[in-house]
Amino acid sequence: MTKVGETVLEIDLRALEHNYRYLRSKIYRDTKFLGVVKAFAYGSDSVAIAKKLETLGADYLAVAYTAEGVALRKAGISLPIIVFHPQQLSFSSIIEHCLEPCLYSKTIFTTFSKMAKDLGQKNYPVHIKFNTGLNRLGLGENDIDFILQSLNEMPQLKVSSLFSHLAASEDASERDFTMAQIGKFEKISTAILKELNYAPMRHMLNTSGIINYPEAQYNMVRSGIGLYGYGNEPAEDKKLIPVATLKTVISQIHTIGANESVGYNRAYKAKNPKVTATLPLGHADGIGRQYGNGIGHVWIQGKMAPLIGNVCMDMIMIDITGIDCKEGDEVIVFGKELSAEQLASSANTITYELLTGISQRVKRIYLE
Ligand SMILES: *Cc1c(COP(=O)(O)O)cnc(C)c1O
Repeated sequence: MTKVGETVLEIDLRALEHNYRYLRSKIYRDTKFLGVVKAFAYGSDSVAIAKKLETLGADYLAVAYTAEGVALRKAGISLPIIVFHPQQLSFSSIIEHCLEPCLYSKTIFTTFSKMAKDLGQKNYPVHIKFNTGLNRLGLGENDIDFILQSLNEMPQLKVSSLFSHLAASEDASERDFTMAQIGKFEKISTAILKELNYAPMRHMLNTSGIINYPEAQYNMVRSGIGLYGYGNEPAEDKKLIPVATLKTVISQIHTIGANESVGYNRAYKAKNPKVTATLPLGHADGIGRQYGNGIGHVWIQGKMAPLIGNVCMDMIMIDITGIDCKEGDEVIVFGKELSAEQLASSANTITYELLTGISQRVKRIYLE
């Protein structure tokens, strides 16, 4: 086995390229592609991922919050960057760094417009978000008149796109609901396009939307999880390659007798003699307490070893009884050999949460 010597998150940029090309193959050639790089590019490294997406020909990037976009600009990323969920106090920073806000409420619409005017902007690119059923962020059908009237009086803004977000694009059982969302968006966006003397883009599909509702791709799609190698269903997972592999190493091996315990609160008690290994990562690295006590498993030398006892802040302990391994050997927590989907679902959570939870303490290394 190779030795990484410490806990690392290996980021495979060739896998990103594969996933990007696969997702692009699902849409028309002239449909634009937005790569979602919020939350450190789903827990990996937003700068490395953004740079690669830029060279691959992605059209747009998106982050959730302004500071994430500022970090990308400071790293030299020049693609247009949408900020999905900006707050008023970051508006001057948005303009200073040429970021493109999503305007999702009347208040945000009006206050951003005022800031753009005060800073002498003309035709500043903005993206208007519509709530079509997720009931999270967005303006509604009732706001169309407000939007059109405001835009008329606001030469400082130019609408780059109208968009919405699906609530259940991965759930086949919610097809009717999703079709209704698409219908609602079609209606709202058409009403606005009719009144403007220019044509903003329209977009509403995330990764599962691309896979399940390609007919609603409009002018652009927005993919996050698919780029990182997960498709929210087994058939798609097979076509994609995980970008992030979390690797660690066996720090120490213990042989314990029957009735001995392992870890805090003596949460694990051995019925029989056991061999255990201690690994240098814990809940501070993003492996939460829910994976302890037999729920999560890691991969060593082709075998699965369960976590035993409580997850500590900086360590986890695993049962390696019967596995041929030694101190210094490499351990895979998730990645190509053992999908993050499998580890996440063992603890009743989703890949999104496991991936984005890997903390900044874990060193990132790159495969080009
Ligand atoms: C996070 C996000 C996406 C990406 O969704 P995936 O399921 O990861 O592809 C797309 N659009 C919006 C508005 C988002 O917030």
